[in-house]
Amino acid sequence: MKKSKSLHISFLGAAKTVTGSMHLLEAEGGTLLVDCGLVQGRRKESQHANRHLPAAATSADAVVLTHAHIDHCGNLPGLVKAGFKKDIHCTAATADLCHYMLLDAAHIQESDAAWLNRKHGQEAGWEDIVPLFTQADARAALERLVPHAYGEEFEPIAGVKAHLIDSGHILGSATVVLDVKAARGRRRVVFSGDIGRRNLPILRDPTPPKDADYVVMESTYGNRQHAAVEEMHEQLLEAIESTRKRGGKVIIPSFSLERTQEIVYALNELRQAGRLGPIPVYLDSPLAVSLTEVFRRHHECFDAETTAFDKAHGDPFGFDMLHMVTSLEESKALNGLDQPAVIISASGMCEAGRIVHHLRNNIEDSRNTVLIVGYQAQHTLGRRLVEGRDRVKIFGVERDVRARIRVLNAFSAHADRNELLWWAKACGKKVKKFFLVHGDEDQCEALGKHLEAEGRKAFVPSQGERVEI
Ligand SMILES: [Zn+2]
Repeated sequence: MKKSKSLHISFLGAAKTVTGSMHLLEAEGGTLLVDCGLVQGRRKESQHANRHLPAAATSADAVVLTHAHIDHCGNLPGLVKAGFKKDIHCTAATADLCHYMLLDAAHIQESDAAWLNRKHGQEAGWEDIVPLFTQADARAALERLVPHAYGEEFEPIAGVKAHLIDSGHILGSATVVLDVKAARGRRRVVFSGDIGRRNLPILRDPTPPKDADYVVMESTYGNRQHAAVEEMHEQLLEAIESTRKRGGKVIIPSFSLERTQEIVYALNELRQAGRLGPIPVYLDSPLAVSLTEVFRRHHECFDAETTAFDKAHGDPFGFDMLHMVTSLEESKALNGLDQPAVIISASGMCEAGRIVHHLRNNIEDSRNTVLIVGYQAQHTLGRRLVEGRDRVKIFGVERDVRARIRVLNAFSAHADRNELLWWAKACGKKVKKFFLVHGDEDQCEALGKHLEAEGRKAFVPSQGERVEI
């Protein structure tokens, strides 16, 4: 791309939608890509977008990555496969989490392609599907990661000084603050990344940037309010105790990154406080077990409360009743378990992975509880359970839903409307415009109206739009 005299931002992904985060800053000294996420959703559309990265992205002079969620980092292997050979800057915890997240994503791409080719290979005219990227591509992307501490200054492209501040969303998550040399003086351009909630367990509260001129801001819950974070423990305890009284099991479909560690830590706190009686807890997900190890290595990301807990009781992510399950044999052995227990497993939306087996084995027993602790997208098994269907199809077989389905809505890693407005206000009075991204259109528009009511300028860009700042 030609070097530009003025500053531009291009919205290459997550415009009026929530996946495929990707934005490009064009400055005098080059171009800088912020995030390179996978588009998730209907197979055909998402595959097309993921396979055809814009040339402006693959030819960028550097990448800054906000965090290790797949909708932000998941297409870095695709970017490298398409020829990107420059640095990818992120926090140290994000780099460590990406190690497992990207190799897992590549493994899924490889096995999906292999499965489809096996299924359709004999059909006339079938052309073998090539995986979007492979584990070798993921390893090549991982080699490009350059870790930084929060607050450390670095220069990803000439004339742009950058630092990362804590966005309080998941371990290692960051808001990117860029001080950009421009024809009309220095400009501070901020990319919020995903913004967390205040008082979330484990993490510090989000740090809003100071003195920003332009802010690209997430809007996932631009028009919603969550239950108070403090209700998390009570809801969890009540669900487990009532299930235990019935002699049943609690099945928790959980995202491997962050939500799982939050639940494990909450159970540990309840156990240490003497409020949770002895009940075996199984964490049945090899990815979640590996990611939990990364949490243990990154104390620098903990909030004061977790640091104090660590000092007083040791490991926040381990306690007497917790069993880490990695092998398939151990996982299968849980099928024969006939006593109260908690089973935490992935995937979070019940679409794949070991959780589907646990649901099949436990959904028809009225003593059991399925505890929903995360967002359930449309057309997923998790969503059908939340909708209260009497019967659901699991592995192609209709099953009666006799287990109790409970939704704990205090668990969310995203700020709600009031928390987003608090964050925006704290960005300072200088902000000339908020660009609202990473939200469905209604959420972005609603957040824009709230900001305008407070005398701010807000704009909701479209996919591919390029604006001068
Ligand atoms: Zn995220």
